[in-house]
Amino acid sequence: MKQHIGIAGAGFAGAIMARELVESGKYRVTIYDERKHVAGNCFTERDAETDIMIHRYGPHIFNTSREDVWTYINKWGKFEPFINRVKAHTAKGVFSLPINLLTINQYYRKKLSPAEARDFVGTLADDSIKEPQNFEDQAMKYLGKDFYKNFFYGYTKKQWGVEPKELPASILKRLPVRFNYDDNYYDQKYQGIPTSGYTEIVRRILDHQDITIRLAQRLEPHMKNQFDHIFWSGPMDGYFKFQFGRLNYRTLKFERFVESGDFQGNPVINYCEEEVPYTRISEHKHFAPWEEHEKTVCFKEFSKFCGEDDTPYYPMRLEKDKVLLAKYTSLAEKEEKLTFIGRLGTYRYLDMHVVIGESLDLSKVCLSSDISTWPKFSCNPI
Ligand code: UDP
Repeated sequence: MKQHIGIAGAGFAGAIMARELVESGKYRVTIYDERKHVAGNCFTERDAETDIMIHRYGPHIFNTSREDVWTYINKWGKFEPFINRVKAHTAKGVFSLPINLLTINQYYRKKLSPAEARDFVGTLADDSIKEPQNFEDQAMKYLGKDFYKNFFYGYTKKQWGVEPKELPASILKRLPVRFNYDDNYYDQKYQGIPTSGYTEIVRRILDHQDITIRLAQRLEPHMKNQFDHIFWSGPMDGYFKFQFGRLNYRTLKFERFVESGDFQGNPVINYCEEEVPYTRISEHKHFAPWEEHEKTVCFKEFSKFCGEDDTPYYPMRLEKDKVLLAKYTSLAEKEEKLTFIGRLGTYRYLDMHVVIGESLDLSKVCLSSDISTWPKFSCNPI
């Protein structure tokens, strides 16, 4: 008899675990999602009015340097090459992001070579900061006050709702600084957008006789005993009924509008000024330049504190969250037959490709070990 596995959440983390486990022939899976659809926050659908493929929970551009992750995802859907080139709308004009040689030369009205630009930015940087302790230190140490104020301070305050000093330096480290004209937002080897959308990919991953999908239904913690093991990709504190309090998240709200033709000439423009209430505008037809549409649909993105009834997006991981996280993690370590997976399950700021990589790695561990020894987490949350 096949062992029965329950999975909470039909995003990439849960879907890949489901598929890899059933492929072995030893397990059958029931996967639950409280939403009416699969694919979690990667959900895509055609906009009813314009027929443009939209990323309902914000733009998702697939990028990875892991060969196995790229091969895996391409097995489930066709990807078109796509390079994310973001523009920053600042008080001093519109510039190329991430900060690169074009940004430096245009912002400071110079004609520097790569080596000259490196030296020049070195003169702007605050070298009194030895070990950056937070986001602001990191920006001041490597870019100096002017770039920090105009590109990062306002955007980050809007995005996270706190002073950048309260945030870890790791958030800024996501963005490269380049002394050449490469304006690719990502430093990864592979990049693309699925032509039929992410939802279709997740649907295909889950399309297997030994996988039962239950949408608009929650896998509740008390149902654990109905299964031989469960994987939980919902919020970790939610599993424990928020008994120590809630981990803080940011949520996003989107304001949709339709125009004709081309609204902003680029898929994503970041609004770095503190006074502008939204963080960015995404124009989704530019994520699929191989398609043609007369109209265009755009989304203004507003970041807010995540209340009880909101969808959690970005784990904040403030100092107080880490204290709470340690308490939940020690409860999780004592739980039998349960593994926390993914962005919400392990309370980490993760991109899609990292989640996919972790589920592939975890499924290999599970398939080569006894179910009673399966790990408690896809990756240590602390
Ligand atoms: N950021 C910023 N200005 C920008 C873009 C990014 O200050 O124009 C900061 C901001 O704090 C953000 C972080 O850099 O949260 C990481 O940016 P990324 O684009 O990776 O964020 P994501 O696309 O995941 O929202």
